[in-house]
Amino acid sequence: MASVDDIRALASQVIDPEIGRTLGDLHMIADVQLTGTTYVVRLELPTPLYPNSHRLKKLVSDKVAVAVEPGQTLDVQIEAKVRGKNSGGRIGLKVHNVIAVGSGKGGVGKSTVAAALACGLHSFGCKVGLMDADVYGPSIPHMLGASGQPAATEHVAGDGQKFARMEPIDVDGLKLMSMGFFIAEGQSVVWRGPMLHKALTQFLKDTDWGELDYLVIDLPPGTGDVSLTLSQQVGLAGAVIVCTPQQVALLDAIKAVDMYQKVNVPVLGMVENMSGEIFGRGGAKRVAEELKLPFLGEVPIDATIRKYGDAGKMMDLLKDDSPSRDALLAVCQNVAMQIARNLLETPAAPTLEIL
Ligand code: ADP
Repeated sequence: MASVDDIRALASQVIDPEIGRTLGDLHMIADVQLTGTTYVVRLELPTPLYPNSHRLKKLVSDKVAVAVEPGQTLDVQIEAKVRGKNSGGRIGLKVHNVIAVGSGKGGVGKSTVAAALACGLHSFGCKVGLMDADVYGPSIPHMLGASGQPAATEHVAGDGQKFARMEPIDVDGLKLMSMGFFIAEGQSVVWRGPMLHKALTQFLKDTDWGELDYLVIDLPPGTGDVSLTLSQQVGLAGAVIVCTPQQVALLDAIKAVDMYQKVNVPVLGMVENMSGEIFGRGGAKRVAEELKLPFLGEVPIDATIRKYGDAGKMMDLLKDDSPSRDALLAVCQNVAMQIARNLLETPAAPTLEIL
């Protein structure tokens, strides 16, 4: 009769079809037990967005089946736990993965993709925060139908000192914070560089995010220094670059990629938004290939996206049977999987610390 270790050894040899390495290497076998006459193998996926998990389950079942004797059974169970390079932190910020969403220029749908990404991750049961750092056009609260002002709560630190924390606005469990909450509608804001940096840092660190699997940050467009500030202060899991398919927008995206790479922010890949008749198709994929970056998917130009965004229903866009739902969910999955892949390839990074 096969021992539990035999079963584990067999399961460990299975090559993960998504990442291309063995389950043993990927530490994806959480546990193997023999309960009565049943071998229970528990697999742990690196994110609930892992695609086609039943395919992996079948690969493991087939591999282990040879060691299961008549009268014995096999039960392969699947669970997911988001892994991340950041956790803990001196200021109590517990965020596993910080994802920045950037673009070379405005109007390409960066905020829309950031909001959809956060909603999509949330729809898979992850603990998600969304920070709207696009100070020049904070549109995220509107897209999610959120209003009001974040409440401040007082806390006492270990040394007895009191400090205040802002409560993010809760949208069906998604934690949202935006500069927009502090700016009257229709007003513009002029930020001087240092003030902006300070405001953003404070925003991140003084918000009571709680424990998060993913924190999505919607950056201001351009190759500005805001991204630099964030990348220096937060151990970003990576940046997602959003662009439209036409040439001018792609050139700006290439510049943005270059900037992230210069400041050592891993670029998770490029998303082509608004692809279709008007702007063309496939441009971002080509550029991603040229730059040797992952292509994270294409989102069609689709009036439903604008309508849902305008109506403050981004959360529903990913639930309802909308024409772009699958495309958006695929982007979410690709982002989550790219983070998981990067984590497995790079050694553990230091704990997230905000200076
Ligand atoms: P950015 O953040 O890059 O400035 P936004 O996300 O604010 O851009 O999007 C600009 C406008 O385009 C919004 O009205 C939004 O609803 C719309 N939009 C974004 N993506 C799409 C899409 N794929 N199809 C149709 N409209 C879109």
